Amino acid sequence: MDVRDLVREDIKKLIPYEPHDYPDVIKLDANENPHTFPEIVIREIFERLSGDTFTRYPDPGGRELKAKISELIKTEADNVVLGNGSDELIQLIMQTFGGPGKRVVIPVPTFSMYKIHGQITGTQPVEVPRNEDFSLNTELLLTEMNNPDTRVTFIATPNNPTGNSVPLSQIEALVRETGSLVVVDEAYIDFGGETALPLLSKYPNLIILRTFSKVSLAGLRVGYLAAHKDVTRELLKVKQPYNVNAFSQLAAAVVLDNWNAFLQQIEEIVSERTRLQEELAKIPGIENHPSDANFILFKVPQSPGELHQGLVEDGLLVRNSPGSTHGLDKCLRVTVGTRQENDLFLEKLKNRLIP
Ligand code: PMP
Repeated sequence: MDVRDLVREDIKKLIPYEPHDYPDVIKLDANENPHTFPEIVIREIFERLSGDTFTRYPDPGGRELKAKISELIKTEADNVVLGNGSDELIQLIMQTFGGPGKRVVIPVPTFSMYKIHGQITGTQPVEVPRNEDFSLNTELLLTEMNNPDTRVTFIATPNNPTGNSVPLSQIEALVRETGSLVVVDEAYIDFGGETALPLLSKYPNLIILRTFSKVSLAGLRVGYLAAHKDVTRELLKVKQPYNVNAFSQLAAAVVLDNWNAFLQQIEEIVSERTRLQEELAKIPGIENHPSDANFILFKVPQSPGELHQGLVEDGLLVRNSPGSTHGLDKCLRVTVGTRQENDLFLEKLKNRLIP
């Protein structure tokens, strides 16, 4: 017997998302915060820990954390759903609204998990190419969004891996002119772009997706979404009851209580992004794209795979073939690091370029 014969045909064909593990490198590949987690926040998390945090199941409703989030984004706790990272929420949305015979619309290039969770849930991914400058092709998008089988569209703003954001007026036009759900993924909103939160009370088909991963808690996996209660009620039926563990719930609540401690780090990342952009623009052969996020996409004049490997040998990890590859075959993506990391990256990059 070959157990592989038992696997769903579509899963057999699935190309998985594979995070790469390179030991002993400076990680500029996963859009994490390069700065040290603030000491006062760690101390408060540990002060608030108790034995119960470990022995008891977590609060399935995540009440304390949801109360803080809803205060922050000026909505009600029932409008919020917590996730084990926003990846889990992408899957939850697809499990609840997708499925065989349904379609999910994805403006590409973008974050690859939208397509993967579409495929895992048997939903047909419909990829709509962005314009050459990576802005949205709204006409094409609306045609696909208004197909009667479309249930969900994912729009990342700022977009990964291109870095550009979508004007709020354009988001509103899309949400207003379609009857399907629009997920606005704001994973990088702390670094730039306009939030779609003001639209939340107006449109029941809007879902805003957020994560703690890019500024504070990538290792603890906490994300959330905000949407109309008719949406959150259905999502909660599908969600695993204990999806966000007690330690992560507690840590995220403390992070929100101490958000000021992260503001300086965000400012530093944004100012380093500007400096990195200016320095990249001076390097002959490199074409860098504008970014509102904590990373920069840049086109290279030689094989990106070889350049990536060369940088790994120099102790630096950047992202090769970022996102679904459409139009990005000559590109690499670098996360904005600390000033020293960025200097090292620029130096090594220059050394690796073939004259
Ligand atoms: N959305 C976007 C656009 C992302 O780039 C990422 C992380 N790469 C995620 C969602 C997932 O983040 P997490 O699961 O860590 O919350």
